[in-house]
Order: sequence, then structure tokens, then C-alpha cells
Amino acid sequence: MENYADLIQKQRNFFTQGKTKDVSFRTEALGKLRSVIKEHEQELMDALKADLNKCEFDAYLTEIGILLEEIRFTLKHLKKWAKPRKVKSSIAQFGSKSWIYPEPYGVALIIAPWNYPFQLAIAPLIGAIAAGNCAILKPSELTPQTSALLSKMISKHFPQEYISVVEGDAETSTALLNEKADYIFFTGSVPVGKIIMEAASRHLTPVTLELGGKSPCIVHDDANLKLAAKRIAWGKYINAGQTCVAPDYIYVHSRIKDEFLKELKQAIQELYGENPIASGQFTRIVSEKHFSRLTKFLTNGTTVHGGRHDLSSLTIEPTVLGNIKWADEVMQDEIFGPILPVLEFDNLSGMIAEVTAQPKPLALYIFTESEGVQTHILSSISFGGGCINDTVYHLSSPYLPFGGVGESGIGAYHGKGSFDVFSHEKSILKQTTRFDLPFRYPTTKDALKKV
Ligand code: NAD
Repeated sequence: MENYADLIQKQRNFFTQGKTKDVSFRTEALGKLRSVIKEHEQELMDALKADLNKCEFDAYLTEIGILLEEIRFTLKHLKKWAKPRKVKSSIAQFGSKSWIYPEPYGVALIIAPWNYPFQLAIAPLIGAIAAGNCAILKPSELTPQTSALLSKMISKHFPQEYISVVEGDAETSTALLNEKADYIFFTGSVPVGKIIMEAASRHLTPVTLELGGKSPCIVHDDANLKLAAKRIAWGKYINAGQTCVAPDYIYVHSRIKDEFLKELKQAIQELYGENPIASGQFTRIVSEKHFSRLTKFLTNGTTVHGGRHDLSSLTIEPTVLGNIKWADEVMQDEIFGPILPVLEFDNLSGMIAEVTAQPKPLALYIFTESEGVQTHILSSISFGGGCINDTVYHLSSPYLPFGGVGESGIGAYHGKGSFDVFSHEKSILKQTTRFDLPFRYPTTKDALKKV
């Protein structure tokens, strides 16, 4: 095991020199990161294929293109974000001026999961660089090719005292967490999120926790069913359902259930073909452990569509399960795979009561043409973020902060949100010396006389 205290100290020494606080240093680093990603595009797609059998279209869309866009957006706005912001002073502070100075924390520790192993390590790094921090990345051990490539790319182009990749598993993570970082950005599961927060509390290090959970997808009786089916099939089965904001389950109005399921089956066939496993193009399940966890769910309810699976390629085809009850095993935890259980409702309030009885989800999707229903659901259920008449897409907007609430996470990033997450806002009141208001000093001779 390496000595991570030394690595963190090296980064802290580099940070103290002040170079990273210079905005031109940050823009140069972001520009370099962009070139490095572009230069390694094909290698990245090969690594993602080896780790998860991601096809090139999905790999580019969800792990490369999205990051290049985030860098472009950040570079466009960084100068403005990094400037001190003038704010009002209150009347009691007459004569003074007030400013908020965004300042970097120092050394940021970024711990990433395996499902989008490149994107979820680099997206927070963009924020860390933009805000002027040094960073240590700890990618997931379950996607070793991407982790090794990430380490190679970063070590070749950035000095270790500025940005560094530490490869390894939970033990490595624990060793890193034993040292004091100035900020911790974690993406992963709820149970590990709790471990991270506990470790951070020992050093009082601030954290962002991007976690998961069961994200509901509600299909009301007035929804455009064809479009709903297509958008749900895409959001659920992209990356074989191993997406933190994938619709975890469907809650469909009983009046249109049969028609909707017909549309859903058709949409799945149109998007993934008759035999997605044989096509060799469908993303695989990350490990045998997850494969066997998921295949156990296939006996729940009745199989409406799919259900075929292949251990040798770790693939499960897009599957829809009907006649599902809350008590079923598939409804107990986040599924994180290509299995989509369907629950029915007749009554909107009853359905809302069932959803709010669960931990607050990371995402929620509503398919309905009724603005009244949209507003009612939005104002009744707390969740991280989501879409009306779409799935997953909200996370690709730099204008929408992305994160959870309650058990699905703490904090939000993307766009300016990423800059804010990695910046401390230093509040400064600049007082005038042209005059001095006497009433603020109660212990002057006159004030004491009145007592
Ligand atoms: P995970 O929690 O098992 O692992 C995430 C990271 O933590 C990995 O780098 C891993 O090595 C490390 N880790 C594991 N155990 C640890 C421990 N005991 N102590 C310290 N570090 C430890 O998560 P995962 O399986 O890689 O990812 C899947 C989960 O992540 C799902 O729940 C999913 O919803 C969530 N997720 C959330 C988002 C989001 O943006 N909110 C994005 C992707 C995934």
C-alpha cells in the first residue's frame, strides 16, 4: 500500500504555491484535459468495450461527448464564475461594501463507481479543476481497463502533485479516507455513501454524495403511450439498466396498462432487436456477483417481455416483469440492471402515498399530458430531479444541478453547480474608513450612562 499521506501532502504543497488559483492555469488545464480525452477516444471506447461491452455509440454519447460538452460550457463561463461577486450590504452596515469570493478548498478526493467509469470520474474533476483545486481520483476496481487507462492518461499529462489517479478497491479507498482531504466527492451506492460520510466526519471534511435508489416512472392514463414507451425503453436499458437515474420501476394507470405494455414491448424490439444477447452489442452486467443478484429477480411476478440471460457473456436481455407487488424481492432495493418491474395504480393519491413511503428517490419520471397531474406529483413527492414526458435526459443539461435528496444523496453538480461544489464562498465585508457610526458601540461613555 502506498503512502497516501505523502501524496496528499505533495498536493497540498503544490496548492499552497497558489498556481491553481490563477484562472488562466485552470483554463489551460481544462483545455489540456479536453485534448487528452480526444487523443484517447478510441482507446477509451476499447476499454469500455472490454470492461462492460459498451457499444461505441453509447460509449461516445455517455462517456466522452457529455464530458467534452461539459468542458466547453465550463471554459465559456469560468472567468465570470471565478470573479468575486458583489452583493448588497444591509442598512445597518451603511458605508460598507460586500463581496463573495469563491475560493478552492485545496485537495479534492474523487471516488467513482463502475457504471460510467470514465464519465463519473472526469465530470467531478472538471469542477475541481475549474474551481482551482488539486485532485486525487479513485476509480472503481470493477472496470480495470478503464481505470488503468485513466491512470495512464492523467499521469502522462498532469503532474502528480496537481492531479493523480490512485487505482484500487475498497481497501485503497479506506486508506485514502484515513488521510485528511479538503473535499470528498463520492459517487456510488447508499451503504458505501454512509461509510464515506462517517470517514469524512473524522476530519470534518465536506462531502458531496451522489448516490442511488429506486427511481419511479409514472405513466398516467392520458400519456402519449407510444412516445412514453420509447423514451422509457431507452432510459431503462441504456447501459443495461446500470444507470443511477434509470427508471427502476413503472407505476402505470390500470386503465391503459395493457396498451402501454404492448407499446413497451414494441419499443424494446425496435431499439434492441429480436435477440439483443446474440447481437453481441448489448452492454453486459459488470460482474458475476451482480449477474446472479439480478437473475434471481427473474422469477418475480410474470415475464411480460424478455427474461433470457447468458452467464458466459454476463448478459441479460431487456426484461419487463408484470404482476409485481411491493413485497416482491425486485422491489426491495435499487435494481441496477435491465429488469423493469411494473406496478399498477387506479388512484393518484394512493400511488403517491406508496411512493412517498419509500426513501426519497434520485430521479422520478412522469408521463402525462395533464399539467394538473404534473404539478400535483411534483408538489407531493420529494426526489433529486427528473423529467416530465422523458427519462434520464435532465442529467445532460449544464443548467440543471444534478444530485439526490435524502437517501439518494447530498449536494448537486454539473455546469456551474460543479464549480460551486468545489468552491468555498468566502464572505467579505469591506468597511469604509471615511466615517464611523457611533451607535454600534454600546459601551461608549454615553451609552453606559443610559443603562
Ligand atoms: P459502490 O458504492 O460499491 O462503489 C463506489 C466506489 O466506492 C468504488 O470506487 C469503490 O471502490 C468504493 N468503495 C466500495 N466499498 C467501499 C468502502 N467500504 N469504503 C470506501 N470505498 C468503497 O458503488 P458501485 O457499485 O460502483 O456503483 C453503483 C451505485 O452507484 C448504484 O447505487 C448507483 O445508483 C450509484 N450511482 C450514483 C450516481 C449518481 O450520480 N448519483 C451515478 C452512478 C452510480
